[in-house]
Amino acid sequence: MTEPRQVAIVGSGPAGLTAAIYTSRAQLSPLVIEGEPSSTSDQPGGQLMLTTEVENYPGFVDGIMGPELMQSFREQAARFGADYVTAKVSRVDLSARPFGVWVGDPDAPEPTYSAEALIISTGAQSLMLNLANEERLLGYGVSTCATCDGFFFRGRDIAVVGGGDSALEEALFLTRFADRVTVIHRRGELRASKVMQQRAFAHEKISFLWNSSVIDVLGDTTVTGVRVRDNISEEESTLELAGLFVAIGHQPNTSLFKGQLEMEENGYLRTFDGTRTNVDGVFACGDVQDHRYRQAITAAGSGCMAAIDAERWLDDRHSAEH
Ligand SMILES: Cc1cc2nc3c(=O)[nH]c(=O)nc-3n(C[C@H](O)[C@H](O)[C@H](O)COP(=O)(O)OP(=O)(O)OC[C@H]3O[C@@H](n4cnc5c(N)ncnc54)[C@H](O)[C@@H]3O)c2cc1C
Repeated sequence: MTEPRQVAIVGSGPAGLTAAIYTSRAQLSPLVIEGEPSSTSDQPGGQLMLTTEVENYPGFVDGIMGPELMQSFREQAARFGADYVTAKVSRVDLSARPFGVWVGDPDAPEPTYSAEALIISTGAQSLMLNLANEERLLGYGVSTCATCDGFFFRGRDIAVVGGGDSALEEALFLTRFADRVTVIHRRGELRASKVMQQRAFAHEKISFLWNSSVIDVLGDTTVTGVRVRDNISEEESTLELAGLFVAIGHQPNTSLFKGQLEMEENGYLRTFDGTRTNVDGVFACGDVQDHRYRQAITAAGSGCMAAIDAERWLDDRHSAEH
C-alpha cells in the first residue's frame, strides 16, 4: 500500500475532475482513480465521452465536443498537481480512516490506496436498448438527454422510447422543438403518473405506438429511422425519423458502496448538508447522487462543492488534532 493521500477521488467525469481542480489548487495533491477505457459511459472522462457537440456548457459560444471538454478538465487538474490512475476501484473500506481503496483484486488483504477524505463521483449510466446501431449512432441522432439534445431537432420528427414519468417528461419537453414526437412503449399502458399521462395524451404533437419494441436503428451517419416490432402481432415496420431518445431509466454506479453508504430507494447515494454522505470524511458529487438535474454543469458544480467540503473537513480535523 502507498502512503495515505489526503484526498482520493473516484471517477473522472465533470464532477470528479472539477473536484480534482479545486483540491489540487488547495495543495491537497488529490489522487484521481479515473476508471478504465470501455465502450460505455463508464470510462475515464465519463458520460460526455460518448457524445459529440455539447452546446450548453457555459463558456463555449460555439459549443465543444464532449471528449475535448473532458480532456481540458483533465489537463487543468493535472496542471495543479492531480495524479491519475487509470483503473477501476474494485472495493472500498469506509469503516475506518484512512479509507481503503482497492483496484484489481478485491480480495487482496491490503488496499491499493488509502485516503483521509474520499470524494465519490462515479456517475450513472443511461439504460440502453442494447442494439448495435444504437451505440454506433449515439450522439448522431440517438440521445439519452432531451435537455442536452432537443435543440438539435427543431422541425424534425423524433421518437422517445419508454413508458415512465421521465419518458413523458422528455416527450413533452421535446414538443418545443420537434414537429412530431412518437412515444414507443413496449406495453399497452404507461407506468407514468396519471397527471403526466393526461398532459401527454392531450398534446397535439405527441402520438403513441403501443406494444412495440425498437429492434434496430437505421442510418449511416445520422439516424434516419427505426425498425419497430409489434409485440402482439410480431409484425415489423419502419418509422422514419431524425432522432431517437432512449428514456428507459438510469443506473447510478453505486454497487461498490452497498452496505457502507446510505442510498435512496433508486440506488443513488444520499447526501446531507451539501455533499456529505453518512460516513464522516466521505463526500459524493455529480450524477451518482443526483437523479434530478443530470447535467455536466450541475455535476461540475457539485464537484466543486465536494472539494470545498472535503478541504474544510480536513482543516477542521487538523485543527482539532493540534
Ligand atoms: C450521450 C450523452 C450526452 C450528454 N450530453 C450532455 C450535454 O450536452 N450537456 C450536459 O450538460 N450534459 C450532457 N450529458 C449528461 C452529462 O454527461 C452528465 O450529467 C455528467 O457527465 C455527469 O458527470 P459525473 O462526473 O457525475 O459522472 P460521469 O460523467 O458519469 O462520470 C463517472 C466517472 O466515474 C468513473 N467510474 C465509475 N465507476 C468507477 C469505479 N468503480 N472506479 C473508478 N472510476 C469509476 C467513470 O469511469 C467516469 O469517469 C450527456 C450524457 C450522455 C450520456
